[in-house]
Amino acid sequence: MIVRFSDTEHWHISPVAQPETIEVSKSLSCMCGEAVFTDYKSFEIIGYTCTQSGYMIVCECSKCGDKYRQHIQTTGRNDIELFKKELAVILHLQTKFP
Ligand SMILES: [Zn+2]
Repeated sequence: MIVRFSDTEHWHISPVAQPETIEVSKSLSCMCGEAVFTDYKSFEIIGYTCTQSGYMIVCECSKCGDKYRQHIQTTGRNDIELFKKELAVILHLQTKFP
């Protein structure tokens, strides 16, 4: 899917295969504890997945290399447009703070 922040800024984000094999993070960051969600260079978004509880992003930790997935919304988790909007902001911030 295409995630658009502005007319000039957009990304292609792919669904991840076998997302159930990837651990869910409840802390908004990698379970290794070395990375934090607000540190935009501590993780890379490698895809997304749609689960029974809604859309999630799939990340790869820049510190330990583990993959994990997480919700980025507290409400409207099944709303694809809202998900794309939230995701666009994160991707945009990652380019601002590389
Ligand atoms: Zn990690």
